[in-house]
Amino acid sequence: MNRQEFLQKSSILFMASQWHVPASSETNWAGNLTYSAKKIVYPINLEQLKKEVLSTKHVKGLGSKHSFNTIANTTGTLISTSKLDKLIRIDRQKMWVWVEAGIKYGTLGILLDKEGFALHNLASLPHISVAGACATATHGSGDKNGNLSSAVRAIEIMKADGTLHQWEQGHPDFPGTVVNIGALGIVTKMALAIQPKFEVSQFVFENLSMDKLKEHFDEIYQEGYSVSMFTHWENENINQLWIKKRSDAKNLHPLKEFFGASAATNNLHPIKVNSPINCTEQMGVSGPWYERLPHFKMGFTPSNGDELQAEYFIPRKYAFQAIMAVEAIHAEFAPYLYVSEIRSMAADDLWLSPAYQQDTIAIHFTWKPDTPHVMAVLPKIEAALEPFEVKPHWGKLFTLSPEKLHARYPKFKDFQALAKRLDPQRRWRNEFLERNLY
Ligand SMILES: Cc1cc2nc3c(=O)[nH]c(=O)nc-3n(C[C@H](O)[C@H](O)[C@H](O)COP(=O)(O)OP(=O)(O)OC[C@H]3O[C@@H](n4cnc5c(N)ncnc54)[C@H](O)[C@@H]3O)c2cc1C
Repeated sequence: MNRQEFLQKSSILFMASQWHVPASSETNWAGNLTYSAKKIVYPINLEQLKKEVLSTKHVKGLGSKHSFNTIANTTGTLISTSKLDKLIRIDRQKMWVWVEAGIKYGTLGILLDKEGFALHNLASLPHISVAGACATATHGSGDKNGNLSSAVRAIEIMKADGTLHQWEQGHPDFPGTVVNIGALGIVTKMALAIQPKFEVSQFVFENLSMDKLKEHFDEIYQEGYSVSMFTHWENENINQLWIKKRSDAKNLHPLKEFFGASAATNNLHPIKVNSPINCTEQMGVSGPWYERLPHFKMGFTPSNGDELQAEYFIPRKYAFQAIMAVEAIHAEFAPYLYVSEIRSMAADDLWLSPAYQQDTIAIHFTWKPDTPHVMAVLPKIEAALEPFEVKPHWGKLFTLSPEKLHARYPKFKDFQALAKRLDPQRRWRNEFLERNLY
């Protein structure tokens, strides 16, 4: 055995010895959930993965642990895909990239950019795994951008019996497999649509009145490739407007003011009192897509640290009314709020995507880490949004009843049937799926 083989073998042996880790104190990113799993395993190949899938009654895939509710919890075995994290290959003919499930968008972005390619969009942070993000329909913003799962072109899933199955776009079940809320099996690899790499310039404006939104909502959201509004809901004011423009856009020139909002004079954090050091570069400085589309840098802890999140999706046609309905009750939740963000996304065809067949607006809440108060105000926000066919983010906190949830998804029954067919013994069940799926 030469030195290289020796090092390779010892590193595999070392990783194998780290394969099982007791789960008792393992928490999600926010720390508001300690997983109930008896053990967490970190398979490094499909053989180990299969062994784990077959060895326990209840199993659950785990991505990068960024969900805020119990969607990724189990009392059985948590199977982390954090060591199945490679870029497998780029198919230049099809313009697809094949990746292992656990790769993080931040890592993938760097690798793709080096090869001259880009994804269509990214979430606010790059630290999340591809399979975990797609399972909950994680999104960024942009009128013409579908959520991240809308880029999936093929998916491979290990079923509860240890067999591998692949679906490609065009297969009748494919639209049910992508936003899968962890109910179908372990996603092992996925193919994502890619495009030639591009650069993005980010412009931030301060103080846009909600009045202006009413008349210019579409113009505001169409000004950039990806547009986000941040508000504390005080004085009917949008505190910050983040406009991410492709550097090849015709309207790239910096503006001093935009519908009465003034251009920021330095980089800002969405919560102005926080340092922008962990935020992606602004002030119109052009940079690679993967360093501008997220709000937060890969190398830094995103956002405010200790926090909770909830987010609600509304058909685009109700956007302004829905925003004003939340504004009307803001005094009830303001003490517990850090900041809200409002983003847009294009319709897609994925059964459990909140943007299924309709352009959509997402109203997001970053909360202080005060679970009792936050859980008490969520039903009030959900009630205010009830007239607008509200749907919650699958990976964030919500209290909406399963009945309402099911009624809001035209293909919910099809997804239930798919889950039953792929997992007749409900081996992926957990408390979240018991309540919201079965
Ligand atoms: C700071 C912060 C910022 C965020 N920003 C955004 C944002 O901009 N936009 C947005 O939409 N959301 C956002 N989120 C929410 C986040 O994107 C979702 O919760 C996402 O699902 C997290 O991905 P994950 O890899 O951590 O998945 P996990 O939380 O680990 O798991 C989520 C679900 O996916 C399943 N799963 C994971 N991997 C696999 C696999 N390989 N096979 C089968 N099932 C699997 C789990 O079982 C679970 O059901 C944010 C969260 C945080 C903490």
